[in-house]
Amino acid sequence: MIDFHCHLDLYPDPQEVLRGIDARGTYVLAVTTTPKAWRGTKKLVGERKRVRVALGLHPEVVGQRHQEVALLCGLMPESRYVGEIGLDGSLQHKSTLDLQQKVFTRILAESARLGGRIMTIHSRGAATAVLDALESEPRAGVPILHWFSGTKSELDRAIALGCWFSVGPAMMRSSKGRELASLMPLDRMLTETDAPFTKSGPAPLMPWQAYDCLSAVAAAREIAEHDLGGIIRRNLRRITQMNSPFELLHHDKPVLTPNY
Ligand code: MN
Repeated sequence: MIDFHCHLDLYPDPQEVLRGIDARGTYVLAVTTTPKAWRGTKKLVGERKRVRVALGLHPEVVGQRHQEVALLCGLMPESRYVGEIGLDGSLQHKSTLDLQQKVFTRILAESARLGGRIMTIHSRGAATAVLDALESEPRAGVPILHWFSGTKSELDRAIALGCWFSVGPAMMRSSKGRELASLMPLDRMLTETDAPFTKSGPAPLMPWQAYDCLSAVAAAREIAEHDLGGIIRRNLRRITQMNSPFELLHHDKPVLTPNY
């Protein structure tokens, strides 16, 4: 099982979640919303091989925390994974969109300068602006658009730019989410929960429940769920060996090493 976008540090009891992850052998990318949380989350995860921590500055907190972009850029040489970053153009956050764009483009530029990062990206209400920024910084690394909710033409553009996509149970609950997932390239798809913000009934989704979306995705693609599981596993192995959308890294050892 693979959860490529989860906020491990924001669960009420992250250690309990980690015990569940260990028991099930789940692969997890734990994103952070501020660079101040990165070291603490890494410490929490310890030496686990299947759990990686991404260095992030969430667009929803950029209004308050934009100065922390300097800290993020300072830590970036130490982290192969960057996220959650991106832009949020929804009603509640569009007043900070200019600031968000400054922060996001600075992170992409730093990422490019360091040779590229694997990036998990938020694009709610701002898909075109996110794609514009990615297009102007083609060496920033491998972008994964998490819970993509743009239009079909924005999706086409994202695909042409080499973006990957992470989809999850919450996304597959809406018909728009299912339609977008039916159009994404299967060889660039990963699974996620975005938990603990997403729920299963009253409780937050757990990382190992990311695969609850497989049956809906498989149905939308008219393939067997088991085959889709195999594709997602191969995708994880592939993305950990990439430094840019169109090139595989051969000189670098994959940092996250799936052992199937
Ligand atoms: Mn998130």
